Amino acid sequence: MPYETVIGLEVHCELATKSKIFCGCTTKFGGAPNTHVCPVCAGLPGSLPVLNRSVVEYAVRAGLALGCQITRKNKFDRKNYFYPDLPKAYQVSQLYQPICTDGYIELAGGKRVGIREIHMEEDAGKLVHDPWEDASLADYNRCGVPLLEIVSQPDLRSAAEALEYLEKLKAILEYTGVSDCKMQEGSLRVDVNLSVRPAGTDVLGTRTETKNINSLRAIARAIEAEAARQTELVEEGGHVVQETRRWDDDAGESHAMRNKEDAQDYKYFPEPDLPPIEITDGEIERIRAGLPELPEAKKRRYMGQLGLPEYDTGIITGSAHLVRLFERTADLCGDPKEAANWILGEVLRLLQATQTLPEDMAFDLDSLAKIIGLLRRNVINRGTAKKVFAEVFTRNMDPEAYVKEHNLALVTDGSAIRATIAQVLAANEKSVGEYKGGKAQALQYLIGQSMRALKGQAPAQEVTAILKELLDA
Ligand SMILES: [Zn+2]
Repeated sequence: MPYETVIGLEVHCELATKSKIFCGCTTKFGGAPNTHVCPVCAGLPGSLPVLNRSVVEYAVRAGLALGCQITRKNKFDRKNYFYPDLPKAYQVSQLYQPICTDGYIELAGGKRVGIREIHMEEDAGKLVHDPWEDASLADYNRCGVPLLEIVSQPDLRSAAEALEYLEKLKAILEYTGVSDCKMQEGSLRVDVNLSVRPAGTDVLGTRTETKNINSLRAIARAIEAEAARQTELVEEGGHVVQETRRWDDDAGESHAMRNKEDAQDYKYFPEPDLPPIEITDGEIERIRAGLPELPEAKKRRYMGQLGLPEYDTGIITGSAHLVRLFERTADLCGDPKEAANWILGEVLRLLQATQTLPEDMAFDLDSLAKIIGLLRRNVINRGTAKKVFAEVFTRNMDPEAYVKEHNLALVTDGSAIRATIAQVLAANEKSVGEYKGGKAQALQYLIGQSMRALKGQAPAQEVTAILKELLDA
């Protein structure tokens, strides 16, 4: 019997606010342990939380960009559980009235994946396990960093759909400046809820929740492994146990962590220290008016303006960082098409070759336009331009200084080119004879030899022209 996979995703993203959700401590990543901490975020008795206004603003921004309804009156609840990284023994979150509900993300084929809700909550600290001392240490720097939890409907059916959903969600959160979405720093974390059922039925099977997945590639692998595990189990007549599982990407398998708690296990109750939040229509409209152009709209505009295919445009608009590079380059060089070609060509090639994410590109945004300028003014040729860009990409050099320093500018002195080509012809009498006998390939060979003699630093068109002129003389 064929089985169908049903996937829902819970995405936690850390907001890009400067300070924490209920106190003035910094949200900066890292720092010496327990240096970004005050009585409020450490949960000392008697301390009281004060809500950071920009957290609400960011949540509304994310909700509007994701097509959600905004809950005009929402409030916080306490989720009670004890864990050493949570000094208060409860997490302030939203269960009963989350700030956003009922949004969606549209996949390329037109399928809409529902977003059930978005709620605001506080992050917990981190435990550092020290095998040398055989001890676990608590670092509370991350306590109280604001989070949005974005909960999808169980609308996804494959790892590919889940990846597309996440890529689109990440792009929207980056475009709107809600989060930097750095998975390697934990600012974007994904839990996968997955069940299987006989294809064609619509009853949901028992689901598991897989945690601890920290890259998009690992998420795809975890989904495929868990779907296969559950299908095999059910086909053998077994039952899936509702539980939380931990993904081990190195081993390519997951392990049961604990039985999954339900909401009632947490004994949620309304947070008494924080008043309800009221958001007016005026505030919502002000935030809506401040939203930037979003990926889909940008894609359609680029397609119309640049005449680029949808696929190529989608690659650029799929990352806020590629968009920033594209717009800056197009702006400076005045040639959006050439800027797009470089991004789809060399930039993507180098990102892939060096396993770099667009958000980690460290070179100056003006550099690519400078290289295009050098190319256009015939200071360097295309081959050299690519080499210079590779240097810029890995070492953030100034392209103009680099070309000068390494003597990469083209030889534009016509008489010097002519003299070198004459030497090449003298040394290749056999090929010259073949060319005169009508063999077209001989010309290609002579062009290659001439370019080599000129160290690739002469304009190819000019070399060909002079070569033909000398051969036909
Ligand atoms: Zn604090």
